[in-house]
Amino acid sequence: MVALLFFIGCFGFILYPTLYSAEDYEKEYPLQLDNEVLRICNESNIDYRKSLYASALYDITDEPSTTQRNHQQHQPQPAPQQPPSNGTEPMIYFVTPTYPRREQIAEIIRLGQTLMHVPRLHWIVADDTDSCSDTLNKHIRKFGIPYTQLASPMPELYRVRKNAPRGVANRRAALNWIRQNQKKTGVLYFGDDDNTFDLKLFSEIRTTRKVSMFPVGLIGDYAISSPIVRNGRVEGFFDSWPAKRKWPVDMAGFAVSLEYLALSPNATMPFKAGYEEDEFLKSIGLKMGDIEPKARNCTEILVWHTQTKSSKSPTVRISMDRQKLDKLNLGALLRQLESMGVNHISDSAGTTAQAIVNGSVKPLSFWFS
Ligand code: UDP
Ligand code: MN
Repeated sequence: MVALLFFIGCFGFILYPTLYSAEDYEKEYPLQLDNEVLRICNESNIDYRKSLYASALYDITDEPSTTQRNHQQHQPQPAPQQPPSNGTEPMIYFVTPTYPRREQIAEIIRLGQTLMHVPRLHWIVADDTDSCSDTLNKHIRKFGIPYTQLASPMPELYRVRKNAPRGVANRRAALNWIRQNQKKTGVLYFGDDDNTFDLKLFSEIRTTRKVSMFPVGLIGDYAISSPIVRNGRVEGFFDSWPAKRKWPVDMAGFAVSLEYLALSPNATMPFKAGYEEDEFLKSIGLKMGDIEPKARNCTEILVWHTQTKSSKSPTVRISMDRQKLDKLNLGALLRQLESMGVNHISDSAGTTAQAIVNGSVKPLSFWFS
């Protein structure tokens, strides 16, 4: 017996470097972190859009254009994408991790204008920063959507990695917010700031009982990631990066009901790049039979993994007194871009700012001479 235990002990020791024990995993990707940051920056629970989607969106009687009037008078009108709201549908908690870079505000405007069309939605914008951004708030607020702006930075330990787990600290902060605020009814969806959402997606996910899944376009080498559905049931997955994942799906490819999430109070997302979805779905104890295929049995693509080409913020060289530019529109314009991190102004470096007047190039000081 002792010999047998000794043998097993040695065997375990020899295998140790190749085996990845639960303990090592926990060290590398701890599910609970000390000092996890959840800063609530701004919140609004009032839906200022009510009149907008009740009247403007649904009462539009599509006035045909002149050519349509002549040729297509009897074409049926397209059906509205969103059914009218009666104010009692399950809330969608739409969690958007975002981070400061020059495209941030442009992405938020595009996404916000999509979400403006979606009734009964609470937008959780979770910024990957340690302080609250006023510029971001100014832009979120104007959509009139009920929202919460959070700040929760990626821990430095992960940020320095080549393959950093993007959007995890902030999604975890959103999960904590949902729990702290006792949100136990409704639907959770992770919608990145650069994706493209068909309005039909929202009416599909709203009825999620446990976990719903659907195809995401523009993912990987198949340009699609989707559940494989037979006879109305999810039986497998179509995704070009299996990577030993049990749930090989994209973050945008599933929604979870808050009733179901509440059954797993410790569920979370690990700081493990590429495995965030898989581990999150494991942590809520998902079973194949729990998955409801949406988007007409996963035959429609209602969300796209679009990516915005990123480039470095340029430096614009302005060597004259900048306050003088307030006499022109340029003062306000350049201040705005700087506050959004879109460009930098320097008096000694960068591309020299010039004006063009009647086809000839002039220094900016031209206006003040
Ligand atoms: N993100 C973040 N911090 C980062 C990088 C990305 O919060 O340092 C957010 C980003 O705004 C997006 C999500 O995490 O909503 C996924 O990041 P990204 O779009 O860069 O990755 P993708 O999944 O498209 O490769
Ligand atoms: Mn993205």
